[in-house]
Amino acid sequence: MDLKKILADLEANNPAQPLYLQAAKEVLETIEDFVNKNPKYDKYAIVERLLEPERIIQFKITWVDDNGKIHVNRGYRVQHNMAIGPYKGGIRFHPSVNVDSMKFLAFEQTFKNSLTTLPMGGGKGGSDFDPQGKSENEMMRFCQSFMTELQKYIGPETDVPAGDIGVGAREVGFMYGQYKRIRDEHVGVLTGKSLNWGGSLIRPEATGFGSIYFLQAMLKAKKDSLKGKKIAVSGFGNVAWGAVLKLEELGGKVIAISGPDGYILDEDGVTGDKVDYMRELLATRNNVVAPYATKYPKAKFIAGKKPWELKVDIAIPCAIQNELNLDDAKQLAANGCQYVVETSNMGCTADAIYYLQSKKISFAPGKAANAGGVATSGLEMTQNSMKLSWRREEVDEKLHQIMSSIHENCLKYGTEKDGYINYVKGANIAGFIKVADAMIEQGVAY
Ligand code: GLU
Repeated sequence: MDLKKILADLEANNPAQPLYLQAAKEVLETIEDFVNKNPKYDKYAIVERLLEPERIIQFKITWVDDNGKIHVNRGYRVQHNMAIGPYKGGIRFHPSVNVDSMKFLAFEQTFKNSLTTLPMGGGKGGSDFDPQGKSENEMMRFCQSFMTELQKYIGPETDVPAGDIGVGAREVGFMYGQYKRIRDEHVGVLTGKSLNWGGSLIRPEATGFGSIYFLQAMLKAKKDSLKGKKIAVSGFGNVAWGAVLKLEELGGKVIAISGPDGYILDEDGVTGDKVDYMRELLATRNNVVAPYATKYPKAKFIAGKKPWELKVDIAIPCAIQNELNLDDAKQLAANGCQYVVETSNMGCTADAIYYLQSKKISFAPGKAANAGGVATSGLEMTQNSMKLSWRREEVDEKLHQIMSSIHENCLKYGTEKDGYINYVKGANIAGFIKVADAMIEQGVAY
């Protein structure tokens, strides 16, 4: 493949889409050698085809707030690739949502979903609507309006959305109710549902649990363990919570969590009822972490800073794209950090990743480390199809297996001559192969 030309065309075709270009460039650079060694991919123009989403849907959402004022927001669904299964990916409600962020997330999702071993294509949706400060009724009306339009494009065998930033079980419930009202079908069209109407055990914890299972595999590959490790986690939402919960169980010491307002330093460790308190904080939907230090006065709140300035062995970004930049990477490396487990989608900037890799720090990309969430969504889809529910242990075991197999695939395609594991390369190549081969086998369709 002619990387230079592909990149030039990509930039020309996607102006003002820095996130999409960042995500695509990372994949292209890491699969280049592999694609060049396997000419069939060029013959079928797989790379060029993968760079174009199969469909981008943009729609208007109007809703009325509690004071009777009418608002207009934008909604999106990017259906990126359906080669290995129905489009699958979350819905994000956040002011940063635009066609660029949706495209990058859908693109990443295709590779991530391929890695899970389950039959799921890649998609992503959302709105620039900000859930912060909205009442429950406003959330419900917004979700209903959003689904009134989205339902035209989704279905259990077509496209199966789920939660993401700003969309939890409550919002999935509101959207599911509206889908059912319009379509008159009780089907597995969304995942992340509540347990008593089709949800799966472990789904709420799955992204965080999966990321820690992946970390365990990374540690094992270096004959290392969690014992005595100090850990900084960013975010305090669903993903961070799952990670902290699993780390507590496995004996890792989390000394920091964070929010957009700053970070909490808790040298005693975020454990016990403090972990439950993270749920309460999230439920307030104020999007600030500072109240933790009021509730637990031994902890400190450091305003306006990121936890990457701390001396930790392991850093786990769990918040949002590009939350860990080159300066943060330098700081972490200078402080002796040995593992960075990107659990947010594209949580690290490209230069931060290069830097960490140049220092031989083990770096796991989000599409591998955070795949446990969507993998468990895949397990929810299976249970819905079979019309039964698996036990907690069953789901957890499957999740664990999936994360181990993703790690093995990263080792297979990402181990370098000096033994360093380039997880980014490994994940991108492994994710690419399955989708690319499926596209070839299905003819020139998309
Ligand atoms: N939003 C999650 C992700 O980024 C989960 C998607 C899903 O469960 O479909 O992978």
